[in-house]
Formats: sequence, structure tokens, C-alpha cells
Amino acid sequence: SVRVRFAPSPTGYLHLGGLRTALYNFLFARSQKGKFILRIEDTDQTRLVEGATEQLQNDLHWCGVQVDEGPTKRGKYGPYVQSQRLELYRDQVEILLENGSAYRCFCSDKRLQLLRKEAIRAQEVPKYDNRCRNLTKEEIKMKLDKGEPSCIRFKLSSDEDTFTDLIYGQITYNVYLNEGDPVIMKTDGFPTYHFANVVDDHFMEISHVFRGVEWQISTMKHILLYRAFSWTPPIFGHLPLLLNADGTKLSKRQGDIKISSYKEENIFPLALVNFIVQSGGGFSKDLEKNVRPKCHTIEELASQFDITKLKNHSGRLMPERLLEFNRLELKRRLENKVEEIQLIIQLQHMLKTKYSERIIENTLQMDAAHIKNILNWSVNRIDKLSDLFSKDFEFIWVIPKKLNVEKSKLESIGLFRSKFEKENELDRDELNKFLKEFTMENGIKFGEFMKMLRSILSGLKEGPSVAEMIEILGKKNTLQRLEICLN
Ligand code: GLU
Repeated sequence: SVRVRFAPSPTGYLHLGGLRTALYNFLFARSQKGKFILRIEDTDQTRLVEGATEQLQNDLHWCGVQVDEGPTKRGKYGPYVQSQRLELYRDQVEILLENGSAYRCFCSDKRLQLLRKEAIRAQEVPKYDNRCRNLTKEEIKMKLDKGEPSCIRFKLSSDEDTFTDLIYGQITYNVYLNEGDPVIMKTDGFPTYHFANVVDDHFMEISHVFRGVEWQISTMKHILLYRAFSWTPPIFGHLPLLLNADGTKLSKRQGDIKISSYKEENIFPLALVNFIVQSGGGFSKDLEKNVRPKCHTIEELASQFDITKLKNHSGRLMPERLLEFNRLELKRRLENKVEEIQLIIQLQHMLKTKYSERIIENTLQMDAAHIKNILNWSVNRIDKLSDLFSKDFEFIWVIPKKLNVEKSKLESIGLFRSKFEKENELDRDELNKFLKEFTMENGIKFGEFMKMLRSILSGLKEGPSVAEMIEILGKKNTLQRLEICLN
């Protein structure tokens, strides 16, 4: 059965690249009716960031990525945090020591530094010279008895080797030529990434490993480890790099923003998910060649997901597509009764926070029917919900203070009100025509009258055109605001 994992190190926050890896694993699990496992790889204790594991889980949850087994979701393969599995690694490393695939290394930091310096001077790639491979049993015993600190290294085989990458095809690599024997157990008794990763993937019965292409050069080493244990390795697939629109590597500065800031920016989680997973193929034709672009639900994405269709060249993220998906997601939510109500409640919540002082004044207009009208009006017009909170749009939510109008002008407003009342709901063009005709027929100066209407309806001196304001507010609210002025 399919079991995949996302195995982040809690050394920082979740970014787009990490989320993409999680998403592909999750979608693959869903599409194969398999399990998605979250494993925290925290063996490098010096690089831990406090709270990162919790934040990571919150971010995944926000994106709709459901974990089947993980630190807060029990399963029979736990614990799912590497620092809680140290005993397992210590037991397993003994097996490799016994069968001769691993050995103790007593080389001091000083010696390793010297090696490095020499290599750099000779313009070679620095690598460990495997010196401790040749220690005799007696030498090892003597050093151990003296209490000399040691680590454990894995003996790399000198042959060229090959594995099949589900996305890149055949990969051939000779690790031995390029690297010295890697440390698998550090002096402090903690395993290194390579070792813990392989041991856990085996014991957690992981069937497929999908991870960023930056790990591809480690995979050969992992396969050698599986071989040393006589274990069957999982199937590997590496995910191509994710790039900025201009083809440069995603960097924090340019676009690789932490996931939680998309939430703060009022991006819908499903929009972010679609944005990321549709940047590099991976779906059956229907989805990509969709004539009418759509923001797909997780279920829809999973049902169309086909890992073999993933492109093996770097994907570029086009920032404008994120906003496009966000608009599509707003549309999708409004077409679903339950999600529409949830959205209205969310907006009410945002309004209460944003305009808290208006609640006491009782000038905040946020009844469900009003919000629903506004949302339907705003589809195709706004990128994000927060656009509805700009200064220009404040009038939508806040009923302005009563405008004190000279008696002579009140008459024209009264006249306007009774004419307007008889009209149907008008759109912007019709309203423009109506306003022109009204002022002309009654010999009222157009510019002046518009200024007054704008103040009555919005309290603003500038902003959207009066016709647009009336269109957004709708007939009922417009009449109500005229009424306030007249009474
Ligand atoms: N802990 C590694 C990371 O931070 C996991 C890589 C892998 O998936 O093997 O990305």
C-alpha cells in the first residue's frame, strides 16, 4: 500500500518549496488511497527554531493538507519525531558495525580541518580520506578504552551505481568518487540526516519518497544504506526546482514568502494550493487545458493527479496567477451555499475587527444580506477580500454621519428620492443616464448635485463615481441614506 511522508526539519517556517513537496506527497497519497505521514526531522539540534513544528502543522492544516500519521496524529509507526527515536538508530547502527558496512572514526576535528585546508590548497573538493576504515579491532578497543570520542561512518562502495527516478528517469552516480565516507552517527550520539531518514523510511514502511531535487545527489547514498541493511528501498521521485517568474531561484526576498503571510494577506488557502501545484504539470490533460480556469478543490486535484505527468524542468511561479486563482476561489465559494455562509461569517468577523469603533455608534452595516450582495458584486472586481476594506470602499460598510444640507437644496434631494424610488435596481450605465436626465429635467447643476449625493451616500469627497456607489449599495441602502439626510 502507498505510504508517503513529508519530512521537514523544524529549522524555520514553511515556505512555498516545502509546501509544494508536502502537497505532492499528500495528493499522491489521496489519489492512491494511501497514507500521508508527517515526520519531524530534528536530529540537528543546533538548528532548531522554537515553535517551528507547531507553526508547520498549523500551516499544513490551513492549506487543507490532512496528516494521517504524525506528531499529533497517532499511528502504529510512531513516534513521528526523530529526536524521540534515538534508541532505534543506535540499535540499527550496531547492525552495520557488525556486518562491516560501518566503522568507528576517531579523527579529530583538527585533523578534518587540516584535510580540508590541504584539499582547498590543492584545488580539490574536500572529502574525508576514509583513514579510520583501516583501524584494527585492537586499535579500536584501545581508543575506546581510553575514552577517545568517536563517530560512526558508512563505508561507501567504489562502484558506479544507478537508480530510477520516477520523474527524472535513470540516474547514474558514483558517490565514492565524489565523497568521503559519510558520518551516520555523530559523536553526540545523534544520527545524521542520511541515516535517520533511511532507517525511518524503512521502519515507517514508506513506499515512495518525493522530495526536492536538491536531495537527488543524496539518494545514491541512501540506496547504498538500504543495500547494507538488505532492505528494499522505496521508489524515489525528485521534484524540480521552483523558480521565480524571471527564472531565478526562489529566495525569501523575491517571492518565497512564508505560508502564514499568505494567510495574513487574505489569500484563500485553496488559491495558494492551486497556484503551487499547477506550476509544473502533474495532472491529466483536462485540468491543465481547462477552457474555463477554475480553482479546484483538494478532492478534484487528487482525482486528476498523475505524478508521471510532472515536468522535470523547473517550474516558474507567476505571481499574477495567484491572484487569478484567488478570484476564482471567491467565485467557487459563492457558488456553494455552505461555503458562502462561512465566507459571510468570516467577513463579519473581519469587519468587526476593522471597524470596532463603529459598532458602538451603530453605523456598521454588516447584515448577511448586505454582505452577500457586496460579495456577488465584487466577484471579478477584487483580488482579495481585504480589497473591500480600502478607504474607497469604507462607505459600503459604514453609514456616514448625517449631512446638514441647506433648506434650498433639500428639495432637490427629496425630488430625487421619490423619482429614484420608482426605478428598478439599475446598473452603473443606467444610473449614469438616470442621474444626467434627472438633473437636466429639473434644471439642477450636475456637478454640484453629484458632490452632494456623494457626501450623503459615503461621507467622502472623492472616491468611486456616484453611479458606482449607488450600484454597489443597491436601491434599498441608497434610499436609506437619502432618508437619513432628509429627516
Ligand atoms: N529533512 C529533510 C528536509 O528538511 C528531508 C528530505 C527528505 O525528504 O528526505 O527537507
